[in-house]
Amino acid sequence: MSESLTEYRRKRDFGKIAEPSGGQPAASDQPIFVVQRHAASTLHFDFRLRVGEVLKSWAVPKGPPEAAGDRRLAVPTEDHPLEYATFAGRIPKGSYGAGTVEIWDSGTYRNLREMDEDGPVSMSAALAEGKVEFRLDGRKLTGNYALIRTAGEDEERWLWIKMKDESGGEA
Ligand code: MN
Repeated sequence: MSESLTEYRRKRDFGKIAEPSGGQPAASDQPIFVVQRHAASTLHFDFRLRVGEVLKSWAVPKGPPEAAGDRRLAVPTEDHPLEYATFAGRIPKGSYGAGTVEIWDSGTYRNLREMDEDGPVSMSAALAEGKVEFRLDGRKLTGNYALIRTAGEDEERWLWIKMKDESGGEA
């Protein structure tokens, strides 16, 4: 069980909500992603990428970047359990994130930094470096994207960027 779910669990009372508490063995080792539309006190999208046994997560106020070059603010949030990738439903009033969650898109991804010229960079290493590049294969989102950590004043901020689509070679 991942220790990084501590914060996720601390924020939630699983007796009152339908969200998963985590800890189920993973059904596969597929690198998956999900985008959830979360109508909470403020409507936003949550972008989650599986890394290891958790979903690394960002809240994206304006939703995914659409055209090549688009950049969207992405604020990191606590790691979520893998089971969260299929969660949709209501979070009751008074609970953390109260509102409704819909699955807006889901699919698989590929770590593009596995092909870095200086040698493969794992997702964990790319996250630590603040430079993650990946290809999404979802129903709505397909193509190459990056998540780049920027210098925030006090909070950590990232940009979610749509990269030019390659046609076979270099992006
Ligand atoms: Mn959210």
